[in-house]
Amino acid sequence: MTDTMTAMVVERLGPPDVMELRDVPVPTPGPGEVRIEVEAVGINFADVLAVAGEYLTRTKVPYTPGMEFAGIVESLGEGVQGVSVGQRVAALGGSGALAKYAVVSAAGLIPVPQSLSGAQAAAFPVSYFTAYHGLKTLGRGVAGEWVLVQAAAGALGTASIQLAKAMDMKVIAMASTEEKLQIARDLGADVTLLQDDEDRVQKVRDAAGGQGVPLILEVVGGKRFQESLDMAANQGRIIVIGNASREQANLRPVELMKRNLSVTGLWLTSLMYDRAATAEAAQALSQLVGSGQVTPQVGPTYALADSARAFQDILDRKTTGKVIIEPQR
Ligand code: NDP
Repeated sequence: MTDTMTAMVVERLGPPDVMELRDVPVPTPGPGEVRIEVEAVGINFADVLAVAGEYLTRTKVPYTPGMEFAGIVESLGEGVQGVSVGQRVAALGGSGALAKYAVVSAAGLIPVPQSLSGAQAAAFPVSYFTAYHGLKTLGRGVAGEWVLVQAAAGALGTASIQLAKAMDMKVIAMASTEEKLQIARDLGADVTLLQDDEDRVQKVRDAAGGQGVPLILEVVGGKRFQESLDMAANQGRIIVIGNASREQANLRPVELMKRNLSVTGLWLTSLMYDRAATAEAAQALSQLVGSGQVTPQVGPTYALADSARAFQDILDRKTTGKVIIEPQR
């Protein structure tokens, strides 16, 4: 083991190209921590927002991005039990994964079916837990019900379609290109619609039996949020998960009264503290992934040195599935 490694470092917030490849010290695991040789890092829209300084929490610099990753446990800090060197794990560590090695709390490790590749394991935690909570924990979706999935070919979108179909729900998928809609159809979406279709509000309402959609996973925000209200059925549930448009949305509470709509925010980070909800999601997801009913969708993969291009491709809507960076390449 050498003393230094390569890592992406952010010293000032801004567009993706503020990230620089540097030599930094290999981190040492403290009590209760493990050091992982990072095989694959799942890049989320949140990582892009964090580098830009636009995330829900303030980004402190300097830092190394990368909140979600998978790799091989390489060494254990004092007092760590229940994890062995050589085991493949996934982790949600907050930051630090865009490097050859990362140190995380053993408590933050997520056991993954050993049948998954490193890239599949890195594509799993954020998107699938979020999709589960959107559809089930907060969305209270039931078999036979329609759900609208936006950005349907993306990391969260593909996870949401797969889980909704596993729950026997009916899916309307929206995305920006025909190629992306084909991905949604391949995963089982029942109805697909271009997100810029001029008649999209009426078409979505018609697809759901003319009544509107009972459950909407809202990730685009801005003026699209208003449209989600218009697409919703009476007593519809709109789960606000993201704001990919980065535009301001306006909500007039009186509009919710008229059709008894409810709007619920979802942030995976704070839901992770709900131990019962997390345990329920983990059990359901490990069964679905372990049985092969649900497969994490790995998108384009990049070398560590190409991290800025990976981030920019997400912003430019060029990617489908989960964007993966492989630091050992
Ligand atoms: P994706 O892989 O889905 O990539 C983002 C997608 O957003 C794009 O591919 C694009 O799909 C769509 N999009 C729509 N409008 C815009 C726009 N104006 N600019 C850029 N992209 C746009 O990313 P993720 O799966 O990581 O995240 C999807 C959304 O879910 C994000 O808003 C993210 O913040 C949110 N999220 C929230 C979580 C939470 O805990 N609340 C957890 C995980 C994700 P298309 O071209 O088809 O429109």
